[in-house]
Amino acid sequence: MTAGNKIPPPLRALELEAVYAISRSVVGASDTEGALDEIVQLLRPVFIFDNVVLYNENNGATLEPTYARAIGRGRFREADLAWGEVTAQEAYNARSAIVRVEELDSENTIDRTNIRHSLGLPLKLGEQVMGTLVFIRFGGPVYTEDQIHLVEQVAIHVAQLLQHRQLVQEIANLEAKRRLDSLQDDFIATITHELLTPLGFVKGYATTLLREDTTWDKATEREFLTIIDEEADRLRELIDNLMDSSRLQAGTLTMTFQPLRVDTMMKDISLRAKSLHENMHIQMEVKTPGLHVRADPTRLAQVFDNIINNATKYAPGSRIKIVVGREKDRARISIRDYGPGISSEHLDKIFQRFYRVPEHSTTVRGTGLGLYICRKIIQAHGGEIEAESTLGEGTTFHIYLPYEKEA
Ligand code: ADP
Repeated sequence: MTAGNKIPPPLRALELEAVYAISRSVVGASDTEGALDEIVQLLRPVFIFDNVVLYNENNGATLEPTYARAIGRGRFREADLAWGEVTAQEAYNARSAIVRVEELDSENTIDRTNIRHSLGLPLKLGEQVMGTLVFIRFGGPVYTEDQIHLVEQVAIHVAQLLQHRQLVQEIANLEAKRRLDSLQDDFIATITHELLTPLGFVKGYATTLLREDTTWDKATEREFLTIIDEEADRLRELIDNLMDSSRLQAGTLTMTFQPLRVDTMMKDISLRAKSLHENMHIQMEVKTPGLHVRADPTRLAQVFDNIINNATKYAPGSRIKIVVGREKDRARISIRDYGPGISSEHLDKIFQRFYRVPEHSTTVRGTGLGLYICRKIIQAHGGEIEAESTLGEGTTFHIYLPYEKEA
């Protein structure tokens, strides 16, 4: 049945008050579900219903329930809430209020929840129907014209609420896309620059060596070849980092775990660092000897190499102190330098992909991928990495790893 088209009677004072309160709650709404709950509460004193269901139009084709509440007689069986799909669809098609009465089981005359009176209201915004609102009454009473008129007013506000939600979503989508675009631009700019720099050296020195109009003495030739060799290594390292980073992002970086003695591993790492960096002074303190962790040795070494390498880049000339100890049920490895430090505004961000402290980005070569990869690797070991720093005093990286109790 379609509700009548006669001029509706005016709303009574209490009903008017409810409609005003509903309109205020729609205007101030920050979350749709909360606002709908409030609407349901405000409507209850002036309009009887047991269930209410909100249907949203889905790509102009189907209706999908997005909100439902059972508050009256049907509440005790919320799981089999009456949805009133047919009423919803009919009201949507007719673009006007629809009333339907359904009797589920004609044999059962005792349980009044068998007879369902449903009222469907289209949620209209201009020409557009955004969905339908369906009220259900178990066993009546029938909907009067005044009541239908009242909830038609409510439906107008619910439609505004949905429009508001739609706009908020559209803005959020646009903002996410804009952020992604700018991230991709930053990514391409950083990577292109970082790849082109070593490539430029390789090409430049190789071309110079190949010139036929000049001859080079052995020492110069060796110097140029060393530069080419180092820059090729840098390219390799950069590409490895990029690949690790995208595998970590996709969750496809595989690790092979085995028991590993922490103090021995750190001694090896420190020896290797000393052999790579002349004049490096590393001091090591083992507070808890013999701790074992389950780890992928190559990946874990990558983390410590990266931190020590950063110390040589950002705290040049500083000594490095490594402390191996225990904190509660975790092994703790701390690596400290006595360089310029990192200010607190940047400290939280240095583990983000591509993040570099701005003053370093022009003076020291790097991509901002190293610490991101370190954190992901440590997390894959069930551990944590954090940085602590005081400007002018230096930076400490703490790595926590669960240790093997039985080892
Ligand atoms: P990259 O070295 O390639 O820039 P990382 O992810 O390893 O990338 O480091 C991120 C940033 O953290 C660096 O660009 C640098 O600004 C800062 N940083 C890292 N280690 C130190 C350190 N020991 N002292 C000061 N700043 C550091």
